[in-house]
Amino acid sequence: MAGRARGSGGGGEALRVVARCRPLSRREEAAGCERIVELEAGLGRVSIRNPRAAPGEPPKTFTFDAVYDAGSRQAELYDESVRPLVDAVLRGFNGTVLAYGQTGTGKTYTMQGSWAEPEKRGVIPSAFEHIFTHISRSQNQQYLVRASYLEIYQEEIRDLLAKDPGKKLELKESPETGVYIKDLSSFVTKNVKEIEHVMNLGSQARAVGSTNMNEYSSRSHAIFLITVECSETGPDGEEHIRVGKLNLVDLAGSERQGKMGAHGERPKEASKINLSLSALGNVISALVDGRSTHIPYRDSKLTRLLQDSLGGNAKTIMVATLGPASHSYDESLSTLRFANRAKNIKNKPRVNEDPKDTLLREFQEEIVRLKAQLEKRGMLGKKRRRSSRRKKAVDGESATENEGEDDNEDGLEKNMENYLKEQKERLEEEKAAIQDDHSLVSEEKQKLLEEKEKMIEDLRKEQEATELLATKYKAMESKLLIGGRTIMDHTNEQQKMLELKRQEIAEQKRREREMQQEMLLRDEETMELRETYTSLQQEVEIKTKKLKKLYAKLQAVKAEIQDQHDEYIRVRQDLEEAQNEQMRELKLKAPRKRRFGPTTPSGSVCTASNYFIQYLKITAQTRINISAFS
Ligand code: ADP
Ligand code: MG
Repeated sequence: MAGRARGSGGGGEALRVVARCRPLSRREEAAGCERIVELEAGLGRVSIRNPRAAPGEPPKTFTFDAVYDAGSRQAELYDESVRPLVDAVLRGFNGTVLAYGQTGTGKTYTMQGSWAEPEKRGVIPSAFEHIFTHISRSQNQQYLVRASYLEIYQEEIRDLLAKDPGKKLELKESPETGVYIKDLSSFVTKNVKEIEHVMNLGSQARAVGSTNMNEYSSRSHAIFLITVECSETGPDGEEHIRVGKLNLVDLAGSERQGKMGAHGERPKEASKINLSLSALGNVISALVDGRSTHIPYRDSKLTRLLQDSLGGNAKTIMVATLGPASHSYDESLSTLRFANRAKNIKNKPRVNEDPKDTLLREFQEEIVRLKAQLEKRGMLGKKRRRSSRRKKAVDGESATENEGEDDNEDGLEKNMENYLKEQKERLEEEKAAIQDDHSLVSEEKQKLLEEKEKMIEDLRKEQEATELLATKYKAMESKLLIGGRTIMDHTNEQQKMLELKRQEIAEQKRREREMQQEMLLRDEETMELRETYTSLQQEVEIKTKKLKKLYAKLQAVKAEIQDQHDEYIRVRQDLEEAQNEQMRELKLKAPRKRRFGPTTPSGSVCTASNYFIQYLKITAQTRINISAFS
């Protein structure tokens, strides 16, 4: 199970996979639990020891793009593994971070962390900071950032930001945008505080309706989605819009739900809980198989939503989380195997340039329309000066822009006030003149006065409409973020340098690890070629050593097959029982509904056969590996 040289060559960019092991929990420590997971950060290697292993049985090892041990800091993981991905999103790529692992191993800790303590903030809050800092430092670009938050529970999609979070949403597909969720709400956010607020609203909605938050979150997938649209004038002088979407996914716990579900559900519910995750496993297997022509994305909501992220045009990172203690051996091993398979997925990342229907374009057009209307009402007298100032700011004088902005907004209000005041005064004067005019008969006077009253009323209405227009205009304009203007950049130059250094170090570490992995691989490959023997005796010694090494490898592979076989038998038994149960249920229901025939009772029958196919593939693969040794 040695590492494989990976990278962007050979028809795509490999999914990046990192593993993270949490510290022993207090309870595990108190119980004197044994630690069975070892991590070698320099090599990106994880070793796991079977606590039931026969003496002398070597640990199983896996190599990943990076590994993070119990002492690793949140910022380390972000800077090394996630930051480059979010940078790509800011350049218009789609990006996905997936946290996969058993419940209680640190998926939520990795994705969210502890908000109150800055050094314990996870991927999501760090990405917020990263995105808005980047925008505040940008030049000549206009950004629009929006966020959505949803979860999938028992194959139903729930919008966590909707007024009615109980409503179930549907997945749709269009040739231009691919798979999307119909009617999913999204909030345009101007800064970190606003997007955090959106996140909190969603988290609260998530907690509502669950009697046991831990149990609930371990069975649902939570996806926080950030869309960053950026418009910039290209070298061709035309304005171009790039759209990057960032999916931050905290998956359901990967532990196998028992045959009746971990919490005593009937088989139907239990199989639904599992469906998205087993479909994810099947999609990954099909993708890395190389021979599959069909990738079963459509088997679950999760895999449909992640279609771009798995074998598609996005950049994807999987964080596989592990528990260190011996009682988690089976689950940790299964997580490592899953992650190991995911390493072989190849994506073809692509920048989304000038897609149809961007919200940014819509905003720009609406702003132009509102501006024209306000100008027509004579409300934007000073406005022309404003745009000429903006041009200047775009050329680099962003500091003066801030002041200019305030001036102009005041100007807009003053203009409106003055205009309305003048009009009103004029009408009032005219009204008074009518009243003073003794040449008019009283009927005529009354009519004229009523006319003037109506005009004053109309004016008031117009004033309200204009105010509304102006408010809308200001609100919309404030949502378009322009570097150095809309957001206060509170980081000074020194801080910027520090950040840059940290990124350089992270980059350096990554390169070193890749080189070490590469070297290890080469060593194995060239072992034979390098050897020349000075004597027969030496040749015998070296070859014996090599034989021993290969024998150990053979034993490891054999143990692996046995493990897989045992696992398969267990799963098959579970599924058979679930299937029998469903058949019984179906028979009970059928006479009443008078409906027999090809109706599949639920996904679990399909899942059984999928599992079987997957098992056969893995076994065949392992056999091939063995034959290479013999
Ligand atoms: P999951 O979301 O996978 O079910 P959690 O993120 O809720 O797991 O983590 C379970 C517990 O372990 C939490 O109390 C969390 O604070 C702690 N924990 C997880 N990962 C780490 C880590 N890397 N460092 C310190 N504590 C951690
Ligand atoms: Mg969790």
